[in-house]
Amino acid sequence: MLPENCSIEGCAGAVEREYGWSSCETCDLLFCYAHRLDKEHHACPWCSDEEFVERMGTTRIEEFALFLDTIDLDAIAARASTLRNGMPCTAPDPDEVWSSLEHGGYNILLPLTFADDTTWLVRVRRQNSRTASPDMSRHNLLSEVATYRWLASIGYPVPRLFDYATDADDSHGFGKPYILMEKLNGKAFEGKSMPFEDYDDASRDHILRQAAHLHILLANNPLPAVGSLIPSESSPGAVPGPMSDSSPGVAPDFGPFPSARAFWNARIDRKIHDILAKKLYSHGSDALDAYLAMLFFREQVALLFPDRDDGEHYLRHMDDKGDHILIQGSKIIGVVDWEYSRIVSKAEAFSAPLWLYDDFQSIYSGAETSPTSGERQFANILTEMGRPDLAACAERERPYHLLEQVFPCADVTQDWFKEQYTSALLAAVPGNKEQSYQEWKENAFLRYANDEVLRRLVQENDGRTEGTHGE
Ligand SMILES: [Zn+2]
Ligand SMILES: [Zn+2]
Repeated sequence: MLPENCSIEGCAGAVEREYGWSSCETCDLLFCYAHRLDKEHHACPWCSDEEFVERMGTTRIEEFALFLDTIDLDAIAARASTLRNGMPCTAPDPDEVWSSLEHGGYNILLPLTFADDTTWLVRVRRQNSRTASPDMSRHNLLSEVATYRWLASIGYPVPRLFDYATDADDSHGFGKPYILMEKLNGKAFEGKSMPFEDYDDASRDHILRQAAHLHILLANNPLPAVGSLIPSESSPGAVPGPMSDSSPGVAPDFGPFPSARAFWNARIDRKIHDILAKKLYSHGSDALDAYLAMLFFREQVALLFPDRDDGEHYLRHMDDKGDHILIQGSKIIGVVDWEYSRIVSKAEAFSAPLWLYDDFQSIYSGAETSPTSGERQFANILTEMGRPDLAACAERERPYHLLEQVFPCADVTQDWFKEQYTSALLAAVPGNKEQSYQEWKENAFLRYANDEVLRRLVQENDGRTEGTHGE
């Protein structure tokens, strides 16, 4: 059962867990808005770097120890052996399991080694206060499986997938839902490899050409709707279905959508619903601030997706910051971590991958709006390869990337949202007037004067302010 209440004893404060914002990754506890940033009750946001690392380490050790207690590695090794017609297979010994365990933000990976030195990976979703509900986790796992199958069917380099279980009951004694997949012998690009800018010119060019080829492969295989892939009986075994999502409070019933515009408007509607239901931004004047932010996003979506039907849609790896690419030297041998990937509009799918951005700070503050050298080089290669349409996306569609990064950000009531991210969007999205977010907001009160919800939130806010003064 997932925790539902603020971990401070006796506190009945609302916990905003819909999007995972009320949990602290460092101590894995859940807080109400007031306690999350309260120095006296929650030290994580305020402690020194060393203490932060120590806290994080302790939390992970506890989580992984609990995980290792609930699984049977010999059972999964036996299952793997059966799948390879009895080829002997071994799981790490208890005394080496800690050193062979790898993890990312969402998954734990454990190796299984066969007698012929082939290695498979058992991939298991991490379980903590930010884990999605069992229903959603099941949907996410099925979507991940469907995505790997679909990618393999179009010849995209992904590890082979051998087996999966959506429930502990079907896990052949392992004890948890899992995916069994091939381990590719490459290093994570920009992870265990090195940053892109540190490669020599020839290697950079080689990597960009392979990445461009993969871009074109996805572009040659459009999909009929916006959503996430889910398994299907018909070939190639995957169709667009509801969005997969890592958020703890979200249900697997969002989408598929006929267009990107419909998806974005539904996304905004869902957040407005949660704001009005006081599931989100329920603290002080935050509801008013957050609602205004949603009106702001609605305007950006109308500018970025002027057509209701944007035609074909394409799969995008939503976390393409580099470490999803496995590389040997300068050769891309596979692309992994497709969980939470999404079918999106062409502009969103083919804006440059994140690993081509060298300076996020200047991009997210709106200081840098022209294409980076990496984006230009990538675009030139795509043009050379006969896809000027994709080159244009790589060079010009950063506003779509910004929208995707800015919209889910944890706190639209914080200064960095109001001053930085919004400036970046205002500067990047064509059609915006030259103005600050503060100016946009002041105008919004006039422009949306007849908006019933805005009027109500303003009244509630005025009432609260007067009440405070009267105390
Ligand atoms: Zn904490
Ligand atoms: Zn509390």
